Amino acid sequence: MTEPQQPAGPDDPYRPDTVVVRSGRAEGDRSLAPVIWSTTTFVTESVEEGRRMATSTGATRFYTRYGNPTVGAFESAVAELEGAEAGRAFASGMGALTGVVLGLCSQGDHIVTQHQLYAGTQMLLQAVCPRFGIEVTFVDATDPDAWDAAVVPGRTTLVLAETPANPRLDLVDLDRLGAIRGPVTVVDSTFATPLGQRPLDHGVDLVVHSATKAIGGHNDATLGVVAGSRELLDWIWGFAVLQGANASPHDAAAGLRGLRTLGVRLERQAATAARLAQVLEQDQRVGDVRYPGLPSHPQFALARRQMRSSGGLLTFDVGDLATGARFVESTRICQLATSLGGPETLVTHPASTTHVNLLPEELAAAGITPGTVRLSVGLEDAEDVVADVLAALGSAVR
Ligand SMILES: *Cc1c(COP(=O)(O)O)cnc(C)c1O
Repeated sequence: MTEPQQPAGPDDPYRPDTVVVRSGRAEGDRSLAPVIWSTTTFVTESVEEGRRMATSTGATRFYTRYGNPTVGAFESAVAELEGAEAGRAFASGMGALTGVVLGLCSQGDHIVTQHQLYAGTQMLLQAVCPRFGIEVTFVDATDPDAWDAAVVPGRTTLVLAETPANPRLDLVDLDRLGAIRGPVTVVDSTFATPLGQRPLDHGVDLVVHSATKAIGGHNDATLGVVAGSRELLDWIWGFAVLQGANASPHDAAAGLRGLRTLGVRLERQAATAARLAQVLEQDQRVGDVRYPGLPSHPQFALARRQMRSSGGLLTFDVGDLATGARFVESTRICQLATSLGGPETLVTHPASTTHVNLLPEELAAAGITPGTVRLSVGLEDAEDVVADVLAALGSAVR
């Protein structure tokens, strides 16, 4: 078996929905489905070969913590989809984010990020980074000038954005972010998926995904990935082999299988999410419906410019804390579970679950109200999902 094909060049003729099906395959390999290299180590033919593999980055046949052919196939697939030179897969999205942050930043460095973030990322930046002497500034993601203004020339090493952001789907202007010079720019693009937007096309240096979500797509693999230039990936790799949060070959195979159907899944989820958003916007019981594909989204024009798909997530406000809790306990199709991007429609109530540890002012800065509900639309029939949400509103809103 040979190495996975190199990511396609700029003259690659295929569109993204074709690339998800074709990418990450070994040239000349006859197995249609990914081969799972379920091994921790590899036999080395000579001392010279062992020395080479122990000292070069990205060896995929030395020891699985360094690299693995199945994991490498997944990495090359995501790199190709993102228009990147290279990728590195991790045991989870948080593994990838920790690998990027601690792989690239040292004591005395400065990070610029945003208020509205996935809760794990927020804890990493707010609680862990200061312990290592890394200072972090949080800005309003929707204000492009705030990002530029917060960068301290010579000190800021990393600018980390999440777009669309959890949970309120605020967007970051990727062109403006990509134009920042000096620090490494990173986008957590999990909510968009590799088919929804391509941050690297806008000049951003690194893109991160929790592949646990839409890429894996079936809620059966915990997986993360980062893609970007070979140089940055080599640097991150140097930390990642010691961090030890490397992806399992089994999860990487699940990630590859998920990618194959990402195109059709995303299309279906986005269509249902758009339909639901339109219905809810007309419903008096619901306020502040947020979906990047709705003309009423405050950054609709930006979404149009930088996103190919508006995605399968939407948020809305059902009133107070008690109504929010009643709503998520009243749905029957929409199940109360944290996570997103899978076949099942999932509903969360951030104020009582994922963001329960935040102070009221932190909640407000993240755009979360007591009645904020987040829906990750699944693959069920759209009209069944709409009917379920309307029925739950009927029993929850008093
Ligand atoms: C889930 C998620 C993460 C963390 O990913 P895990 O795979 O759960 O570690 C990071 N960022 C975003 C936007 C997420 O949704």
